[in-house]
Amino acid sequence: MRVTTAFSRLVRLPGVWVKKVRFEPDRVIVEVGLRRKKLVCPECSYSTWARKDKRPADSVWRHLDLGVWALEIHCRRRRLWCPVHGALTEAVPFARAGAEFTRDFEWLVAWLAAKVDKTTLQRMLRIDWRTIGRIVKRVCDEELDPGRLDGLFEIGIDEVSWKRQHKYLTLVVDHLRRQVVWGCEGAGAAAADRFFAELDPEPASPSPAPNPPDQPPPYPDAKRPAVWPEPAIMVPFGPCPTVPAGHGIPGGWLELGVELEPGMFARAGLLDAVSMDMTGGYAKSVREHARQATICVDPYHVVQLANQALDEVRRDYWNELRRADDQQAAKRFKDARWCLLKRPEKLTDEQAATLARIKAAGGEVSRAYTLKEAVRGIFEPGLSLEDVEILLKRLLSRLARCRLKPFIRLGKTIRKHRDGILAAIRLGINQGRTEAINNKVRLITRRAYGFHSAQAALALVLLTCGPIGLHLPHELHTLGTG
Ligand SMILES: [Zn+2]
Repeated sequence: MRVTTAFSRLVRLPGVWVKKVRFEPDRVIVEVGLRRKKLVCPECSYSTWARKDKRPADSVWRHLDLGVWALEIHCRRRRLWCPVHGALTEAVPFARAGAEFTRDFEWLVAWLAAKVDKTTLQRMLRIDWRTIGRIVKRVCDEELDPGRLDGLFEIGIDEVSWKRQHKYLTLVVDHLRRQVVWGCEGAGAAAADRFFAELDPEPASPSPAPNPPDQPPPYPDAKRPAVWPEPAIMVPFGPCPTVPAGHGIPGGWLELGVELEPGMFARAGLLDAVSMDMTGGYAKSVREHARQATICVDPYHVVQLANQALDEVRRDYWNELRRADDQQAAKRFKDARWCLLKRPEKLTDEQAATLARIKAAGGEVSRAYTLKEAVRGIFEPGLSLEDVEILLKRLLSRLARCRLKPFIRLGKTIRKHRDGILAAIRLGINQGRTEAINNKVRLITRRAYGFHSAQAALALVLLTCGPIGLHLPHELHTLGTG
């Protein structure tokens, strides 16, 4: 077998033939030629026989490694003129537009980025983290399910900090599919407004009626009809597979000047429930765009607030110890932080012992811990709505009397959002459901801290928690002799 034939099988790139192979000290270079003669625009499907000019464009792509060798694909491309996108270098079938890596290599990067940490990935593939960010963005743009915003009924909207210094991503989770389906940079009502704008885009401004009655027909010779047909639209209801005969709204013609309630066809109109935190920004937007949806308070956020209150009490106590110059106790207490915040069933033996000591010692921290656990107890699985109503009432009176400032404040917040909390329980948006995805999202955004743009961080979140199927290169090729 000739070397070029052997390499043609090894690299398995679609639409090319191998011209030449050469070895350099640190890599193997495979020169290929494109099989297709027509030039294709990389941004759209426009194709042409005509070259824009004779200027060649020599391009390089990194492909999957070959043993210890890095493998480079070199190809001379031609330039074309796309009527939409202008002068461009032609597309290649084995790489995404603008990429310096083959599609196979990018699939490998995306798969690994979702599974392993930054250091492992950089060292294994010999590329820097920012480049990985760009690859993740490209794969996400191409593979994200375009129908992911269809059929949303119960969603959660929440922000997660990306990078330090108050940079946020707002994410929308589909509670039923347990996936992140949408995201953008920023937080609060403005971010939620952007979600609703994308869910139901403004219809393109209607083209003017071809022949408005009060204007002469475009062709002076044309005979003007005696009666102009009334512009009207059909309401598409009536007997259909999902509506039994006699139960639909009868079809009819709308009179001129009567507008259909746009909400009738809007995807936002399908939303039954939207869960969120207790800050109020998202609620404002939801009330405006999806009036029918029940606003629920995500149990995750209530527990998070309780944890923050506990941490405040602990910190005050610790500072007191430090001021009292009890170094030994202060140090022991600082380490106790995780014992207090972790779920008791997840503590290690040593942490459980520390927790037992804190409880035995009594005092404010011990009381704060009991209160935090009581808040968490409301959202235990298996409780009925009536159970929760009773527990919540008891909890609120306990918090009001507890004499711990952070917890009194917490009690007031919970009281204000009582209806939202009960709505979440009633609709089954429980803590277990939201906590798992929240934790995963937070882990991934921390991994994305080093990315250059919020778009890349968002892409990594969607890649790991969104509607994208990730595959390894060998899973995408049916291996055979070809
Ligand atoms: Zn084009």
